[in-house]
This record gives sequence, structure tokens and C-alpha cells, in this order.
Amino acid sequence: MKREDVPAKYRPKYDRAMSGRSPKSGIRLFCLECVGWSEKEVRLCTARDCSLFLYRQPPSKRGRSELEGDETTSVDRLHSAEV
Ligand code: SF4
Repeated sequence: MKREDVPAKYRPKYDRAMSGRSPKSGIRLFCLECVGWSEKEVRLCTARDCSLFLYRQPPSKRGRSELEGDETTSVDRLHSAEV
């Protein structure tokens, strides 16, 4: 993904991802690009076999409730990470 291909709205996020300081931003951008830059479609993603499925942001309420069975998940740790 090249910066000029990223919608202007998401360029600050792209810059954070490319700085190497925010894996969270990198994952978010990858998911947004995957679904044609629609935040709603990232939430509605059902591709459970995708390696980023559990890390997409924000997870749907259903996805989060499925994860809440675990006391602390990698998703929680990722979401609490510094951006
Ligand atoms: S989790 Fe869903 S939206 Fe994100 S990259 Fe995978 S298929 Fe695409």
C-alpha cells in the first residue's frame, strides 16, 4: 500500500503505522483496505480464517463477547497498547 493510495482521512494512521510505532494502526489499515475503506465492513467481517480476524478493530460486539470468555486476550492487550 502506498501513501497516495490511502484516503486522506486515514493518512495520519498510515504515517503512524509506517513509523513503526503502531502495529495497531497497521492492522487497522490492512483491514480497511481489504474491505474497500469501510469501517462498517471491517466490523462486519466474518472471515474467521483470516489471520487478522481476532485483531481487527473495532471488533463487533459479538466478536468481543466471544473473546470475553478469556480473561485477557491478545486483542485486549493490543487494544490497550500505546498508539
Ligand atoms: S480480518 Fe477481515 S477485514 Fe481484516 S484483513 Fe482479514 S478479511 Fe480483511
